Amino acid sequence: MRILVVDDSSTMRRIIINTLNKIGYSDYAEASNGREGVEKLASDAIDMIITDWNMPEMSGVDFIRAVRANDQTKHLPVIMVTTNAAQEDIVQALDAGVNNYVVKPFTPDTIRERIQAAIHG
Ligand SMILES: [Mg+2]
Repeated sequence: MRILVVDDSSTMRRIIINTLNKIGYSDYAEASNGREGVEKLASDAIDMIITDWNMPEMSGVDFIRAVRANDQTKHLPVIMVTTNAAQEDIVQALDAGVNNYVVKPFTPDTIRERIQAAIHG
């Protein structure tokens, strides 16, 4: 399963990718904002998305809206990993179409759980 990791912080992308490796997911692609994420989805066979919220150029919420608006990508499981922990943020992300929501900092177990929930519904 190829996972697209979208975050403007290269350190955070590294942390997420290290976590994915730890829990058995070693196939991934990277993008540093939503616009790059859209480009990756057009050029790469992606099975799942893990995205940040706060990013330049295109935010995570706008990215998810673009993913859901495209017939090629609208079915993909999307997990948002963010520092935005307010209830209204979570509601906005769910409205945009995220399958699951993880507040930073996170543990490998949390990521594993959310991935499995996003895959299996
Ligand atoms: Mg960010």
